[in-house]
Amino acid sequence: MVPLIALNNGVRIPQLGFGVYQVPEDQVAGAVTTAIEAGYRSIDTAAAYGNESGVGDAIAGVPDLFITTKLWNADQGHDATLRAFDESMRRLRLDVLDLYLIHWPTPKRDLYADSWRALEKLYADGRVRAIGVSNFHTPHLQRLFDEFPTTPAVNQIELHPLLQQEEMRKVHATHRIVTEAWSPLAQGGALLREPDIAGLADKYGKTPAQIVLRWHVQLGNVVIPKSVTPYRVKENIDIFDFELAQDDMLVITELDNGTRTGPDPDRFNAA
Ligand code: NAD
Repeated sequence: MVPLIALNNGVRIPQLGFGVYQVPEDQVAGAVTTAIEAGYRSIDTAAAYGNESGVGDAIAGVPDLFITTKLWNADQGHDATLRAFDESMRRLRLDVLDLYLIHWPTPKRDLYADSWRALEKLYADGRVRAIGVSNFHTPHLQRLFDEFPTTPAVNQIELHPLLQQEEMRKVHATHRIVTEAWSPLAQGGALLREPDIAGLADKYGKTPAQIVLRWHVQLGNVVIPKSVTPYRVKENIDIFDFELAQDDMLVITELDNGTRTGPDPDRFNAA
């Protein structure tokens, strides 16, 4: 059973969800259905992933789900945000969304504050149960704290053993923002072949991916691993029957080397 984590407005988010970045529209419904059958209740998509309609097909009529989508950079600005939200809801075929995030701050474009005002309106109107941000650094968050009544419920950031984001996690804890880790497995690859991770996998009788996801959960992160391979989809949720000892958590702490798999939010201004 996946634990639920309370957001700062009392809404509860499953601590583990299913990410669908780079899953093509014609495959996403099958992947999401596999995930739901495996026990996932939270799905993370975005307008930019181009697969919201397929997600909508898979979730239609399924009760008790938690759906997140994100405002794309090109749609930032107050009125454009309201229009983009309506489009996402049409594709997802939802009346009320669980979580809406500003995907990137795109600081050069300087529209994230206007966009946040629109998210506050959507929240006040009852169209979304919680609002948050993604890829925000401390100055971007600080501007929202200074100018708006609502603190983001979530900041979804790149976070994995090679990029542990200690400073951002501290800022989040201070402001009661839930840390949600994207690319929690550092997109597979080198991290999962690390000898220390492999050693822990042997010790606990789990796979490297399960060790990494368990580390996230014990740190208190929300995680949204992605896979389109059914046995991996099942493997990634099968992490709630064991616990890493504190010493073994520290073995993973030692792996932080600042490696990003994605862009630096301070310099990413694509629209
Ligand atoms: P991830 O860290 O979840 O890695 C996914 C890849 O790891 C898979 O494609 C597969 O190659 C491999 N993998 C998955 N499970 C495995 C297993 N059990 N064993 C071995 N290999 C395995 O990377 P991601 O897809 O980039 O991130 C997860 C989700 O985070 C995305 O789908 C998306 O929803 C979200 N995300 C958000 C942002 C953002 O800017 N907010 C950016 C990137 C991703």
